Amino acid sequence: MQTDELSAPVKILAVLAHPDDEAFGMGGTLAHYAKQGAEVTLICATLGEAGMVDPRFLQNGQTVAGLREQELRCSAEALGLKDVILLGYRDSGMQGSPDNTHPQALAAQKLEDVVTKIAQYMRALQPDIVLTFDPFGGYGHPDHIRVHEAATQAFHLLRSELPAQSARPFTRLYYHVMPLGFLRAAIFMTRLRGKNPRKAGANGDIDLVAIASHRFPTHARVNYADSADAQTRAFACHASQGGGERSKGFAAFIEHVFMPRVDRFIQAYPPPEPGSRQRRGLLPNEKA
Ligand SMILES: [Zn+2]
Repeated sequence: MQTDELSAPVKILAVLAHPDDEAFGMGGTLAHYAKQGAEVTLICATLGEAGMVDPRFLQNGQTVAGLREQELRCSAEALGLKDVILLGYRDSGMQGSPDNTHPQALAAQKLEDVVTKIAQYMRALQPDIVLTFDPFGGYGHPDHIRVHEAATQAFHLLRSELPAQSARPFTRLYYHVMPLGFLRAAIFMTRLRGKNPRKAGANGDIDLVAIASHRFPTHARVNYADSADAQTRAFACHASQGGGERSKGFAAFIEHVFMPRVDRFIQAYPPPEPGSRQRRGLLPNEKA
């Protein structure tokens, strides 16, 4: 897979917040493009320090950050990523948690500082395509929203630096969106099990109803059926976050029935032509 303009591999940069975002979110898409020969790089802003981890996963005094970085490296290899860049911020936890105010917390940083840091890596990498969270951060996590804002601003900063007749004129920005069908099914199944869909997830801090109320358009779809096995291997790497279970039993059934092997994206830049049809794939010249 190469750009039309240069016989160099397409470069894709995903800017995300925590170890496991690269697997549970757009992992299928990342693996799909890596398999096609694209150079896929991940920027991960934190090491997921605020995530719940069962002590049985922490061997020999290992920290949550150490374990989650190890899981991230395993997942990156499964997905075929070229490189992982860690920004070194601390996980801010969900809205209102004490982790929000830790001095190293991503949510406690000035937005312009995070933008500058991401822009430095973008400048060095010159990605053709940048991928990040939607404006609601998928499910409202403060770190996801902050990464969405910072990656978007860094992208436009870089774009403003490009000469008008750039050698790589098709730099594009996409936001990954949660599949509405899957969310509705998750709400239905949560209620069926007698649980509150406004307090879902291992920590009870995921409001499925609020997530489903955020409607975003889909401008592009990526079919990653050829790489679903790589995504499943990446899930399994994140054992401390329940990634192993997601490929087994009831969760696997839900996944199989309600999750078509398709990721959906908002095309943030360039804005899609009014009335244009949904794209297949993220590259302008793709005939997927
Ligand atoms: Zn996350």
